[in-house]
Amino acid sequence: MQPIIVIGAGPAGMMAAITAVNLGSKVTILEKKDRVGRKLSITGKGRCNLTSSVDKENLTKGFPGNGRFLFSAFDQFSNLDLIDFFEQRGLKTKVERGNRVFPVCDNAEEVVTVLYESLKRSGVSILTETPVRAIVIDSGKIVGVECKQGRLAAQAVIIATGGMSYPGTGSTGDGYKWASYAGHTIIEPRPGLVPLLVQEEWVRELQGLSLKNTKATSYDAQGKKINQDCGELLFTHFGLSGPIILSMSHDIGGYLSRHDKPVTIELDLKPALSQEKLDERLQRDLEKYARKVFKNSLDDLLPQKLIPVIIGLSGIDPGKVCHQINRSERLGLVQLLKHFKMTINGTRPITEAIITAGGVNVKEIDPRTMQSKLVEGLFWAGEVIDIDGYTGGYNLQAAFSTGYLAGKCAAHSAR
Ligand SMILES: Cc1cc2nc3c(=O)[nH]c(=O)nc-3n(C[C@H](O)[C@H](O)[C@H](O)COP(=O)(O)OP(=O)(O)OC[C@H]3O[C@@H](n4cnc5c(N)ncnc54)[C@H](O)[C@@H]3O)c2cc1C
Repeated sequence: MQPIIVIGAGPAGMMAAITAVNLGSKVTILEKKDRVGRKLSITGKGRCNLTSSVDKENLTKGFPGNGRFLFSAFDQFSNLDLIDFFEQRGLKTKVERGNRVFPVCDNAEEVVTVLYESLKRSGVSILTETPVRAIVIDSGKIVGVECKQGRLAAQAVIIATGGMSYPGTGSTGDGYKWASYAGHTIIEPRPGLVPLLVQEEWVRELQGLSLKNTKATSYDAQGKKINQDCGELLFTHFGLSGPIILSMSHDIGGYLSRHDKPVTIELDLKPALSQEKLDERLQRDLEKYARKVFKNSLDDLLPQKLIPVIIGLSGIDPGKVCHQINRSERLGLVQLLKHFKMTINGTRPITEAIITAGGVNVKEIDPRTMQSKLVEGLFWAGEVIDIDGYTGGYNLQAAFSTGYLAGKCAAHSAR
């Protein structure tokens, strides 16, 4: 019996291999790097946000664009099934803020170990340091792959090579060229969840500052709202990053790639206070520090790093004594704190994106099986497909669910 060959030992490929072998198939997994699950081991800042605990309908809503393509995959292997898979293998999970599911041990390496042990125990043949060079198609059917061992014959091939972000982990977009060779169309890969570049120079002064409770709203060049989110963000030497920025970057990046015009992000630095309440608060602070100069009056209101930037943008003389600050200056300051604007003129490159948007066109893959509609015996799984979710565990769930479905259907087709 010829094996099912899985290309790529990320979460999608490993789940596909485990599923197929458990259904009685002979399975070989080929991995370019020296060990399995390199990207998986750095997920969730090393803690691995495995999935989301939301219900099934909301799971597909975590995918702007192609969520519907994932209905079958989530139906066959849901977030509950994934949690069960790991718990049965001794990896306990917990739910944190925002429905994020993590292993109790807070260690992504443990997730990799569970998958690796499952591969080994179930008898999958694992070949690391084995980059696949080409896939072999004969008369509309996949018949094998080319790698350093030469041509390996296969009953079916599952391509789970991931996207092209964080290429050091092995995901260098190899699957796309094979997709084109097989006749598939590729939706132009672009950064999915990615930090944003800010045009204003002063942003560098804020590097390292993390704001836990901020409301961010983005607007296009016509002033039309693109999206909004509340939560944590981070200033970096080039601009903005952190959870809400990564989530918002999907639509902002999409806009930037279609138009040659920048986007404006507006931060509400005090979302819990209305304009009136913030004005009252400022009046109290300015009274408290009536004899001090303006630049020394904002310590109670703002983080230290932000104060010089806000003072500079406020247009109020930093040396002005607080009791001399007039109403219009104070109201201007309220406006600045509620509408702190930055110009977004790009994203960091795809290599620094958390995920790759774009990939193999979902219209050419059967969502009930993950099999190519163009080449018999060829299956797709994970990020190589044109699916990309928000932060919160959606992307790993998609990788595991599509991997499961591809493994199951490849096993059935190979019988
Ligand atoms: C820093 C970071 C943090 C993240 N955190 C989270 C998180 O907490 N939660 C979440 O849901 N998502 C997270 N993601 C996204 C998630 O890691 C990916 O969506 C997921 O790993 C995709 O799985 P995959 O199996 O499709 O591809 P990958 O994990 O990219 O695996 C593809 C595998 O294929 C191998 N390969 C590629 N080409 C070849 C070839 N020619 N021959 C042989 N092997 C090949 C690669 O070496 C790699 O091992 C994070 C991503 C990054 C970069």
